[in-house]
Amino acid sequence: MTPFAPEAVWIERGEVGTPLAQAVIARLGADAVRLFDPPDGPRPVGVRAGKRVLVLRRHGGAFLRQCPAGTAGLVCCSYLTLNLASNCPMDCAYCFLQDYLADAPALTAYTNVGEALAEVAAVLDAHPARPFRIGTGEIADSLALDPLTALSRQLVPFFAARPNATLELKTKTECVDELLALEPNGRVVVSWSLNAAAVIRRDEPGTATLAERLGAARRVAEAGYRIGAHFDPLVEFDGWERGYAEAVDALAAAVDRRHIAWVSLGSLRLTPALAQAVRRRETPAGVLAAELVAGPDGKARVWRGLRLRMYRALVTRLRAAFGDVPLYLCMEPAPVWRQVMDEVPSDRALGLRLAAGASW
Ligand code: SF4
Repeated sequence: MTPFAPEAVWIERGEVGTPLAQAVIARLGADAVRLFDPPDGPRPVGVRAGKRVLVLRRHGGAFLRQCPAGTAGLVCCSYLTLNLASNCPMDCAYCFLQDYLADAPALTAYTNVGEALAEVAAVLDAHPARPFRIGTGEIADSLALDPLTALSRQLVPFFAARPNATLELKTKTECVDELLALEPNGRVVVSWSLNAAAVIRRDEPGTATLAERLGAARRVAEAGYRIGAHFDPLVEFDGWERGYAEAVDALAAAVDRRHIAWVSLGSLRLTPALAQAVRRRETPAGVLAAELVAGPDGKARVWRGLRLRMYRALVTRLRAAFGDVPLYLCMEPAPVWRQVMDEVPSDRALGLRLAAGASW
């Protein structure tokens, strides 16, 4: 994987002294950085242009949110997202950020990390008996900027000292060097979005290869981190059965099942606006070749019969490889859960099960 090198770096003038800004300056040099005073600053046009310019600035609103997957009618795993960055230097064909960030495309890392962690601490302290799962990979890749910002040096020690929270760092990179020097104390899961190698090559430009992701997973597992895996989105292509079976087998060969915290499965889903954004891409997007139908929420998905076949094939393979490691479906309704998993857990039960790393 080619390391990310921004074409330009802009830092909000009053934030230059923050650990995040200092880490970037130490790596790239002061000459590589331009300062700005809000509301001035770079104005990239389009999400793909936004990926090339790194902006460091304060975030003004709340950092912690309920995961948007918790939509009525879908089984939810009670996940919280901690938004410390926005946009991503990689360029997956199906990425929802192409539509979601159309009006705010700059690749941004927020500098007031201390305020974000104070917000998290207040929530954790208010509910000391409740276990929380909190992830930073919702509108950004959790580790893509870590070689520049060293954000993990602030996050990992914070969560390592919190008995009622698990931090999930979700990535498609191999950027784990910073993590290797830190002590997670059993409170940090590093997870990889995984796919069949053919889908990675075709639809995930700029990301690490499957072998690179799994090599990184092996290294952080050996350093004491728990590992998560997300086969999401599952995409239909000629030979998908074999492609996904090989990806599961490669995960099993790289990471011992005792290190796996959870594995999720999710299907390709495109809102009408996202499907339009995908069609506008310069190179034809292979994901649109899959047979998709509109669901009741307006999103186009793989039709249900095929979705069930894909989930069942993956679950069978995962069970054979990982035994009773917790498996869950992301953004699927109760009937799909029942047909694939033979149960429909309540949102609370599912959240507790994953937080505890409990067996099924
Ligand atoms: S790695 Fe994730 S956030 Fe980045 S482009 Fe791909 S799907 Fe989007």
